[in-house]
Amino acid sequence: MTQAPLGIPRPPAADAAPHPRPRPEILTIKPYIGGESQLAGVNRVIKLSSNEGAFGPPPGAIAAYRALAGEIHRYPDGGAEALREAIGRRFGLDPARIVCGNGSDDILYQLALAYGGPGTELVMTRHGFSMYAIAGTYAGSRVIKVEERERTADVDAILAALSPRTRLVCLANPNNPTGTLLSRNEVARLIAGLPPEVLLVLDAAYAEYVTRSDYEPGAAFVDQHPNVVMTRTFSKIFGMGGLRLGWAYAPAHVIDVLNRVRNPFNTNAAAQAAGIAALAEAGWVEKCRAHNATWRAWLTERLRAAGVGVTPSEGNFILADFATPERARAAQMRIRRHGIIVRAMGSYDLPSCLRITIGTEEECEAVAQALAHFMQRA
Ligand SMILES: *Cc1c(COP(=O)(O)O)cnc(C)c1O
Repeated sequence: MTQAPLGIPRPPAADAAPHPRPRPEILTIKPYIGGESQLAGVNRVIKLSSNEGAFGPPPGAIAAYRALAGEIHRYPDGGAEALREAIGRRFGLDPARIVCGNGSDDILYQLALAYGGPGTELVMTRHGFSMYAIAGTYAGSRVIKVEERERTADVDAILAALSPRTRLVCLANPNNPTGTLLSRNEVARLIAGLPPEVLLVLDAAYAEYVTRSDYEPGAAFVDQHPNVVMTRTFSKIFGMGGLRLGWAYAPAHVIDVLNRVRNPFNTNAAAQAAGIAALAEAGWVEKCRAHNATWRAWLTERLRAAGVGVTPSEGNFILADFATPERARAAQMRIRRHGIIVRAMGSYDLPSCLRITIGTEEECEAVAQALAHFMQRA
């Protein structure tokens, strides 16, 4: 299953009954496919399809969420001031240059709509995070997908794809679903090659899981360049995907734009309270990062030993390559029988691959065993 060319308006099929119609490019958008979460007839599902974090939410975040229940008739603080201050303290950033969102997807949408639009282009990489293509097409931009090298963003290819119409370059670093990243020096080289009117969105959803020392999530670049934004999320290492909370750190002029266009109450009260508590949870990030590094390496080794190709990952997931779409599909079906759900990658133009989230020790062992068994018999 390959993705239709994005951003090329294709009229919907003629339909007898007249009805309101969206702009034609809207109907070229393929709805985002989330990870499955249920299997018919299986009681205990091991869900390794959405990179949700191995340990659930921090206990303090659960308590803060519960404590809020009697107050949900109150509108949230539209400016998320206490949360922005907590983020600023935690990461050493100026709270005035932080905007929170209903997930970082919300912020990506606002950036795509505010800076893109008809007659402009959004550049992303071939296997880049699919939300960029959805948001860019929604905005009316043409979405340009650039070839990668060894499943890694290629700075020269990105720079070569720029045109006078380019307004946005979106880069997940590390990228989902490949797990690869660009080093600090490579991102610096990308920024140096961008014209000042092009906004670089560095999506650092997996920053906390990175163990490579040559990595910079983006704040240092935001401080040096008026055309760089960093986005972050509470959905991964903080295990709060269900509450929808993300944030951006950006130059003051971009913050001003986001505060004009965002929904005034885009982060709900429960997300704000739980987010503050999650940041205060002592040792949480360190514990999750250490667990992830250990079991990411273990699962990579185990799958390689079984004959599965694995791209070296800096995220909380690995991309496993079964060489053909048929084998990937067969592997997926086989492990489903053990109640294990992973993510098919056809929609990312990687049909021979499956993306597997790093779960708990037991979950990693279960998926490794099931896949080793599949490879022996395949
Ligand atoms: C999961 C993910 C996000 C986070 O999205 P939220 O809307 O914050 O849940 C953003 N970017 C990438 C690349 C992701 O994989």
